[in-house]
Amino acid sequence: MIPMVDLKRQYHKLKNEIDQGMLTALENTQFILGPNVQAFEKEAAENLGAKHAISCASGTDALHLALVAAGIGPGDEVITSTFTFIATAEAISYVGAIPVFVDIDEKTFNMDLDAVEAAITSKTKAIIPVHIFGQPVDMGRIQQIADKHKLLVVEDCAQSYGADINGKMTSTFGIAGCHSFFPSKNLGCYGDGGMITTDNDDVAERLKVLRNHGSFERYHHNIIGYNSRLDELQAVILRIKLKHIEEYNRERRRAAHYYSEQLKDLVTPPQEDGIGTHVYHQYVTLTDKRDVIMSKLTENDIACAIYYPIPLHKQPVYEEQYKSQSLPVSEKVASQCMALPVHPELTNQQIDQIVSVIKSAI
Ligand SMILES: *Cc1c(COP(=O)(O)O)cnc(C)c1O
Repeated sequence: MIPMVDLKRQYHKLKNEIDQGMLTALENTQFILGPNVQAFEKEAAENLGAKHAISCASGTDALHLALVAAGIGPGDEVITSTFTFIATAEAISYVGAIPVFVDIDEKTFNMDLDAVEAAITSKTKAIIPVHIFGQPVDMGRIQQIADKHKLLVVEDCAQSYGADINGKMTSTFGIAGCHSFFPSKNLGCYGDGGMITTDNDDVAERLKVLRNHGSFERYHHNIIGYNSRLDELQAVILRIKLKHIEEYNRERRRAAHYYSEQLKDLVTPPQEDGIGTHVYHQYVTLTDKRDVIMSKLTENDIACAIYYPIPLHKQPVYEEQYKSQSLPVSEKVASQCMALPVHPELTNQQIDQIVSVIKSAI
C-alpha cells in the first residue's frame, strides 16, 4: 500500500520528541494561547522572514481573518484562481465580498496573470494569489499589478510553506500570507491549524484581537471577533516539525524530480516555471488516460487522486452566479489532472513501482 502521504512513518521518526512534548504540555495545562503557541509564532515568523505571525484555528480561518483585518467587505470584488481548494473562495464569500474567478496557466496551474489584469474593475479591492500545489505565483508581477491599481494582496500559502522566490518566502509579499497546518500540508499538525503572517503592525494587532473574541483586554470586547486559536498541543507538534521543514521540502522535490524523469514519456509531468522553488505539496500530472491509469493504480493498492475535478466557477455552490463564465484552461486541466503520492518519506523504489504500474496501464 502506498498512501498519498505517510504521516505514520513521519510520526515514528519523531515519536520520542513528540510524545515527550505532548506529555509536558498536558502536565502544564495552559491549553489556550499557551507557551508553545507563543514560541511557535516567534519561530515561524523568524523561519519565514515575516515581522509577525499570528496563529489561528485553520487555513480557512487564516484567509477569513486576513480579509476582515484588511478591511475587505460587502460589495468588494476579490480576484482569485478558479483552480484551487474551495476555502480560498469561501473566505471571500464569508466577508460578503464577490469572488472573481480567473483562468489558469496550463503549465503551472497557477492564475493567468494577464487574466488577473483583465478582470480588474472599479470594485476590485484585492487579489488572492494561490501558490497551487506548492509552486510560487510570480509575485513580482502580482505586486506590479497591485501597485498600479491600488489593490491589496493576500497570499494563499496553504500549499506552499517554505516555497521561496529568490530567497524571499511566499507569505511575505502581500499585506498578509495565509498558512494551513492541515495534517497533509507540507507543514502539518495532527488536527486543524492555521496562521497569518504580516509585516503590517496594525494588521497584526487586528488579527490578534479578531482571533480572540474581539478582545484587546480580557473581558473587554471592542469589536465582534471570532474564536479561532491554534491549540497548544498542535503547537507542540508544529514546533518539532518546523525544524525539519527544509528537509521535508527538499525530499518532496527529490521525489518529484525522480518521478518526472521516469514519467516524461507516459504522462505530462508538472512543470516548473523557474520563478520560485516548487515545494510539491502535490505532484499533479496531466493525462488523457486518467481513468485507466487510476483504476490500475487502485488495483495495485497505490493511492491517487484528482486535484481538482471541478473548478470553482463550476461548483454547485457558485454555478448559478457564474453560469455564463467559461474558463477553458481550468476546465481542460480538471478533466486531465491526476495527482500521485508525494511526501518526504516516499522512496525512489516506491516511485519505480508506481511508474511501472502506470506503464502497464497504458
Ligand atoms: C488546505 C487549503 C486551504 C484551507 O486550509 P484548512 O486548514 O484546511 O482550512 C485553503 N486554501 C488552499 C489552497 C488549501 O489547499
